Amino acid sequence: MSTSRSMPGRVFTFAVGLCAFVVGDVATAQTPDQDSRVPAALVGKVTASIDSDSERLEAIFKDIHQNPELGFMEVRTAGIVARELKALGFEVTSGIGKTGVVGIFRNGAGPVVMYRADMDANAVEEATGLPYASKVRVKREDGSESPVAHMCGHDAHVTWMLGMARAMVSMKDDWSGTMLLVGQPAEEPITGAQAMVDDGLWSEHGVPKPDFFIGMHTAPGPVGVVVSSGGPKMAGTDQIDILFKGVGGHGSMPQLAKDPVLMAAMAVVQFQAVVSRVIEPQQTAVLTVGSIQAGADNNVIPGTALVKANIRWYDPQVRDQLIAGIRSVSNGIARTYGMPEDQLPVITMKGGSTPLVNDDALSNRLAVPLRGLLGDKNVVTDFPPATGSEDVHLLLGPHKDVPFTYLIAGVADPEVFAAARKEGKFMPYSAHNPNFVVDLEAIPVGTKIATVAMLELLATAAPK
Ligand SMILES: [Zn+2]
Ligand SMILES: [Zn+2]
Repeated sequence: MSTSRSMPGRVFTFAVGLCAFVVGDVATAQTPDQDSRVPAALVGKVTASIDSDSERLEAIFKDIHQNPELGFMEVRTAGIVARELKALGFEVTSGIGKTGVVGIFRNGAGPVVMYRADMDANAVEEATGLPYASKVRVKREDGSESPVAHMCGHDAHVTWMLGMARAMVSMKDDWSGTMLLVGQPAEEPITGAQAMVDDGLWSEHGVPKPDFFIGMHTAPGPVGVVVSSGGPKMAGTDQIDILFKGVGGHGSMPQLAKDPVLMAAMAVVQFQAVVSRVIEPQQTAVLTVGSIQAGADNNVIPGTALVKANIRWYDPQVRDQLIAGIRSVSNGIARTYGMPEDQLPVITMKGGSTPLVNDDALSNRLAVPLRGLLGDKNVVTDFPPATGSEDVHLLLGPHKDVPFTYLIAGVADPEVFAAARKEGKFMPYSAHNPNFVVDLEAIPVGTKIATVAMLELLATAAPK
């Protein structure tokens, strides 16, 4: 397809990461024309290279889509990344942070540009009905069985990175520097990036410090539209478990028990008062309980109840207030229902991420050649902060000063997107929805976006 197809209207919606967000009539801010390192001739070379590779890329995408793996279980997917990068001449290290992969391609003097693709899928039963839909079920560590499907587009992320790597290697006379590509495990639980850092990504594997870092994510906007926008984009988040201890007993004699189910139910309601009555109203604060696990029978009061909560924030003080609120509400409820001080709820912080802030200069710089690739109105540079979250920026570990940006690329069929808008829907489907679809046209288009972004930072001169 043409990558400059026009986008159906400027009102569109993206759902990305762990949360959906809406963009209405966003402005494509007109920044003054800047010189790009990727002039039209080089964009043409990228387009030709990736178009000639698109059948192979589609096959890789469908293969990964049909064989999804949950976080830290991405053995097969990581194997594909390692195999493909090795074949292209990358130095490859596998097994960083359990299933993480790093590939380094040194091509003379110049900047080190890091690019990350996350590899994990979701515990969702796919309902797209596509001929290559996932039918995979997996046994988790706790023995439970779960469906698995790529409903966040990480299969596209891996394919884009592999396609970009091949295009960049085939055009290595046009650029100089080092590519540092990362296949990251376990983005969905927001623990994979930190796991790679903790496993010595920067200290034990000879990985050079990057000069720039690019991440990229799918969104159910139209194919051919990309967001390259500076400033805060994704919220900080924490996964928090609250285990209420009670005293189990017969459902007919609650006076002889201490009911943890009731404590959990009260907590879910009272947590919302922390958001509405404690947090400054102008601040971003979300507290969601996604799971309550307690008991099995109608007539048995169980001994414990587990509440799984998630918070979103931009200001660290808001984070502190939310966590303190969860603790004080939970303890207060347990005391109210008669639990002694040594049996108060156990609160476990399971992991999280800090807010994601895109570098202004880098985002504006990448927007220039992306306009050349996709057309001016298909590059969105003015994009509001969302309450979705990511851990991509945690990969930088000690190198927090490295300019970083996170591109968001539309993957919905533009006609499907336009039809959904006509029906009054915000979007045809959201990320993590069983009907999430990456249109196959998005495979070459996303690969071109990634390649043009890399070339902007690495290209030496006019194309040869
Ligand atoms: Zn996701
Ligand atoms: Zn995702």
